[in-house]
Amino acid sequence: MTRNLATQLEQRLPSERLELIRAAGELARELGAGLYLVGGVVRDLLLGRATFDLDLVVEGDAPRLANLLAERREGQVVIHRRFGTAKLRCQDLSIDLATARAETYAHPGALPTVSPGSINDDLLRRDFTINAMAIHLDPDNFGKLVDPFGGEKDLEHKLIRILHEKSFVDDATRMLRAIRYEQRFDFQLETTAEQLLRRDLSMLHTVSGDRVRHELELILKEEQPEKPLQRAGELGLLQEIHPSLKGDGWLKEKFPQARSVTYPPPLGLYFSLLVYHLSQKEGEDFIARLRIPGVTARAIRDSLRLKENLPPLTSPDLSPSATYRLLQDYSPTSILACAIASDSSLLHQRLHLYLNKLRYIKTSLNGKALQQLGIPPGPRLGEILRSLHEARLDKKVKTREEEVELVRLWLSQGA
Ligand code: ATP
Ligand code: MG
Repeated sequence: MTRNLATQLEQRLPSERLELIRAAGELARELGAGLYLVGGVVRDLLLGRATFDLDLVVEGDAPRLANLLAERREGQVVIHRRFGTAKLRCQDLSIDLATARAETYAHPGALPTVSPGSINDDLLRRDFTINAMAIHLDPDNFGKLVDPFGGEKDLEHKLIRILHEKSFVDDATRMLRAIRYEQRFDFQLETTAEQLLRRDLSMLHTVSGDRVRHELELILKEEQPEKPLQRAGELGLLQEIHPSLKGDGWLKEKFPQARSVTYPPPLGLYFSLLVYHLSQKEGEDFIARLRIPGVTARAIRDSLRLKENLPPLTSPDLSPSATYRLLQDYSPTSILACAIASDSSLLHQRLHLYLNKLRYIKTSLNGKALQQLGIPPGPRLGEILRSLHEARLDKKVKTREEEVELVRLWLSQGA
């Protein structure tokens, strides 16, 4: 008997969403197109988990359906003709519509060759059985489950199963996706899938840096990324990204600490901890392999550089200004990463002193004010400003008046 999820849809989807997909289903019928809810939302509905993204697949012209729906409901659409996809926004609701498609891979790691297809073709190109289910939205079949690969049974048995033997070869990012879902839901990679994953580990090299980074970022956005990372370490998958990476117990200790300091942690912080035990050279290889962009790359670079320059920060009686000088060239994220990574409480204290206080301390007098005190522009002015800043950091001066007094003293001494 075909499973019908109409009741679940009615009970679990907020009413505006339900109403919108019903209207879409009616419009699709008028156009003679099939319409389905697909992917994560179906899985989450069956799991009884909250879900936010509504992904629809159209057997027919998705951009056309999206345009008509937008006209009727005063929504806005963004169309990607080339991909046959559309994003529709109605009030504060957003849904993605895609034309059902069949995919073939010219060679491992290639982007797929795409042609229009049926819902079954569209499900066949997906990653795992639990993500390869759909729900009919046309009014006559509303709520009927389409489950050609036994996704519902695998949900019950808590299994991550691939659809065919070449799945990881076609698209090796699925290996990272597999462990992400496995650990998020507390499932198990099905035995054959695990064997194939181990067999196909090296296929990760066929995938572009951008795509590997994207999947790694999705892992880092999970609630407890240390779990899939540890699993990736055990399976040898992390080592395929860089041979020196480890997803070991250290991350299990440090990632929760990162979350307790700042939530959600910036990606740069997680990335810096992930690569913390790499050398600077290895860090550069990691950044290049994943094509890690600007701010995150800087956090990683600074963390690995600061890690090697920590010893002077543990010397006794380090003044605030000396602490400042040792840290001023590093990004705050990298300083936080080193504080979390380090087990020395003195170091901890100093890094946090810089992050919470010292980096915000400014002098009251600026260059212009110093000129008004009679110091001509030039290198000497810069030096006096720096010395004044140090005096302020070390609490030798606390007010503007005290700064003026100190500058006058220096001038009288021929500074
Ligand atoms: P999440 O809760 O993580 O967002 P999701 O299932 O919505 O889960 P997305 O990454 O948003 O995951 O992708 C949407 C759907 O697209 C998936 O359910 C899956 O069917 C399909 N998909 C995504 N990436 C791949 C891939 N690399 N190979 C095959 N199918 C994929
Ligand atoms: Mg999603």
